[in-house]
Amino acid sequence: MTDLVSAIFVYGGKVRRFVADRLARTVSGLCCCCGLDSDTHSTLCSHCLLSLPRIKHACTVCGLSCESDNKSEAGPQSEHQGEPSNRCARCPTHPPSFALCRGAFAYATPIDQLIADYKFNERLDIGAGLSEELGLVMEAYYAGVRQEASTRRKPFAVIAVPLHPRRFRQRGFDQARLIAQRVAHRLALPNLSDAVARTRHTTPQTEAKTKAERQANLIGAFGIVKGAALNGCKHVIVIDDVVTTTATVSSLTETLLDAGVKRVDVWCLARAERSSKG
Ligand SMILES: [Zn+2]
Ligand SMILES: [Zn+2]
Repeated sequence: MTDLVSAIFVYGGKVRRFVADRLARTVSGLCCCCGLDSDTHSTLCSHCLLSLPRIKHACTVCGLSCESDNKSEAGPQSEHQGEPSNRCARCPTHPPSFALCRGAFAYATPIDQLIADYKFNERLDIGAGLSEELGLVMEAYYAGVRQEASTRRKPFAVIAVPLHPRRFRQRGFDQARLIAQRVAHRLALPNLSDAVARTRHTTPQTEAKTKAERQANLIGAFGIVKGAALNGCKHVIVIDDVVTTTATVSSLTETLLDAGVKRVDVWCLARAERSSKG
């Protein structure tokens, strides 16, 4: 019993120190990127917000840069009045299962290092700053959509790409779920992240070498939690920290579509450009 009490005390102390440290970073007023005083309400200063990498001329469907690709008319899944139609060469012939995929930033230096620090060094102040910006980008996007067409549907809910419980225990927090909480609050949408779960542990997608391996790795990876209240949710936003090959978000999209959702928009902190992995 004494051992149990002391274990609880030690663990509780770790939790208190962890929370105090993260809280101090978040409210310190220092920019999480350059370390100087932030002149904004966010943990990113205005200089860093302007200088961090963004994807210019993004495809209106997959979100990848398509400056050099042919521009074509938007298809039924990507149509957004008020947004110039711009699609990459691949999307018209190989449309993804999701309606669109966008990142607040491009996955390039120093965003890649910032997100690595967020995920692996528990820098929650970085996650807060990047999520704040993502929320603002999304808010502007959906406000524009609503202004242009009153019949255009506002998303019903936000859902984070779930971590497998084993990886949650290793990491101590769920980075996508924290992002989803912030953007759901910003957009005043319900956060239904509890409605989906990883149904099996998958190897990290970065370890799968080919597209076929990545797709096979994710078959049956997600499921709807029994009794979850997804009924009536026709338009859902899926949130992840980084989207690279889209294999993970496509797999979750297909699970949601199978459950009756009609449209899935994917948003992430950073969208990675096409890699040689395809
Ligand atoms: Zn800064
Ligand atoms: Zn595209």
